[in-house]
Amino acid sequence: MEIVCPDCGEAEALRGTRMKSQINLLCEACGHTWIRDPAPSCERCGGDDMQAVPLAILEKGRGTQLSVVGTRTIHLCSVCDAATLRRYHDNRPNPLMPDDIPTAGLD
Ligand SMILES: [Zn+2]
Ligand SMILES: [Zn+2]
Repeated sequence: MEIVCPDCGEAEALRGTRMKSQINLLCEACGHTWIRDPAPSCERCGGDDMQAVPLAILEKGRGTQLSVVGTRTIHLCSVCDAATLRRYHDNRPNPLMPDDIPTAGLD
């Protein structure tokens, strides 16, 4: 998988610095810096156009009420998960709701 500068397209003069869970990249050609997640490729189509999206962590409260107790970051493919990404972007800045929302009374 080739890394290119998203700003100028440079593929050679790139410098990466690994941080805890991500890689900070610097393009020495234009000075652009950006962050790359080390596991950004799609398992389904192999594409690397992934977007980091906060997914809501839900907890079933009393009755049928679901409350958001936190978020975790997931990576969605802009091809395979286009519909989900659209759902997220339409609803920003709220986190994405999981597909398998636990429904009260079904278990
Ligand atoms: Zn550049
Ligand atoms: Zn994909």
